[in-house]
Amino acid sequence: MDTEPDKFLTMLHALDGVGERVLTSGAELAAFGSDALTAFYERPLAVVVVESGEEVAEVVGLCHREGVPFVARGSGTSLSGGSLPVGGGIVIALNRMNRVLSVDPDARTAVVEPGVINLNVSAAAAPHGLAYAPDPSSQSVCTIGGNLAFNSGGAHCLKHGMTANHILGLRVVLPDGETVELGGDSTEHVGPDWTAIFTGCEGLFGIAVEATLRLVPVPESVRTTLTVFDSLERAGDAVAAIVGAGLIPVAMEIMDALAMEAAEASVKPGYPVGEALLIVELEGEEAVVEEELGAVEGLLRECGCGEMRTTADPDERALIWKGRKSAFSAVGWLAPDYIVQDGVVPRTRLGEALREIDRLSAERGIRVANVFHAGDGNLHPLILYDGREEGAVERAEELAADILALCVELGGSITGEHGVGVEKREYMRLMFSADDLALMEDLRAAVDPGRLANRGKMLTPPAEMGATSATGSAS
Ligand SMILES: Cc1cc2nc3c(=O)[nH]c(=O)nc-3n(C[C@H](O)[C@H](O)[C@H](O)COP(=O)(O)OP(=O)(O)OC[C@H]3O[C@@H](n4cnc5c(N)ncnc54)[C@H](O)[C@@H]3O)c2cc1C
Repeated sequence: MDTEPDKFLTMLHALDGVGERVLTSGAELAAFGSDALTAFYERPLAVVVVESGEEVAEVVGLCHREGVPFVARGSGTSLSGGSLPVGGGIVIALNRMNRVLSVDPDARTAVVEPGVINLNVSAAAAPHGLAYAPDPSSQSVCTIGGNLAFNSGGAHCLKHGMTANHILGLRVVLPDGETVELGGDSTEHVGPDWTAIFTGCEGLFGIAVEATLRLVPVPESVRTTLTVFDSLERAGDAVAAIVGAGLIPVAMEIMDALAMEAAEASVKPGYPVGEALLIVELEGEEAVVEEELGAVEGLLRECGCGEMRTTADPDERALIWKGRKSAFSAVGWLAPDYIVQDGVVPRTRLGEALREIDRLSAERGIRVANVFHAGDGNLHPLILYDGREEGAVERAEELAADILALCVELGGSITGEHGVGVEKREYMRLMFSADDLALMEDLRAAVDPGRLANRGKMLTPPAEMGATSATGSAS
């Protein structure tokens, strides 16, 4: 920080309008010091609650002139410490920028502010028979701004693609306070795809203040099939068989016995009993879905499934998905603390990865519940521990690190959708060479020479993070 904190706060308060929405008291700041990855905490200098893109530009411009780091925040559901502030820096809270500005049913697009809740986009599009496809399990609380920063995915992204596939245009405040338009209202552009470059870069290139989103038609018919297997490997084989047969369900999700136990204790979805649960969902025109369903059910039987149920009933389907989507929070019934990991392996190596995770879990005596987007090889091992036990966090983090290393070794990635944030910076070296990382730093520096936007995330070496703690102690 180049300016004295008190002097900077005076400047912030002096900003027209937004100056009245600067939070500085300990109680006001407490909730902004962390996100859903609560192992990290850092108290910001201030939180500024903005209400328009112009206000974001004003605040970011001031930060740029005074050399003060800033982080944008939607709902703070990041599981990688993405919305963690930097000591001495500020949080720009976008929750009041939560309007769906327009829905164009003919163009199948919606223009939204960044603080709009994901599920509210589909609610606004529903009267036109349209929906917003990316559906993170946190979709009832997370924002479009957070989704695009992390290129978030969800159970139904197997067929529809991730957030990046649904963002057509952006209005962005760059780290020097300039506002620019990226992309537009269609996919037809000349030149580099700047929207795609911004999406998934975890806020390092600035703050999105408006987004034009692609909408998809609500499908004519949906069928959800639930079945169980006597091993995770067999369930993984069934997924490979379905894809191998040329079928693309809209979702294919697997939960292991521990994750099912947690879901049952929490929201009671009434899942059949087995070592692995597979949910397969098909959507589209009625006749096509019927035909594909026959093929899927046949393949599941060939792969040795146990009890199988298929439903088109919206309430039954909602309960099936409630069980799956609440799995992260449900493991709170099994242990006081947990780390959610987010690695990817090639689909063909799912069985191998799960066997190895099982072995590592048994070797360390740490329980791991597995929930994953099986269709695209995106694993979410939930590492259970009790933070009150001496060294438990560290042991859980070691296991998490080994699992990520395994994913890379098998030809996968350190993150599928939760981002690198603070948590996985060190693992970037597992995937990228020093030259690759230097190139990324150069790109970042070209846009943000002071490294003010989301400092300390993704690219910054831990040594530069200063006081931020991985063990929950505020500093
Ligand atoms: C129970 C649970 C389930 C989850 N399930 C999923 C899942 O299925 N799939 C998935 O992908 N994720 C999932 N997540 C992770 C998380 O919800 C997503 O990463 C989500 O996109 C974060 O949105 P947010 O509004 O909370 O963003 P925040 O946590 O507030 O911010 C996330 C990042 O986005 C940046 N950011 C926020 N707004 C902007 C903006 N306007 N411009 C630029 N940068 C911005 C922040 O600086 C930060 O780096 C889950 C989390 C929880 C707690």
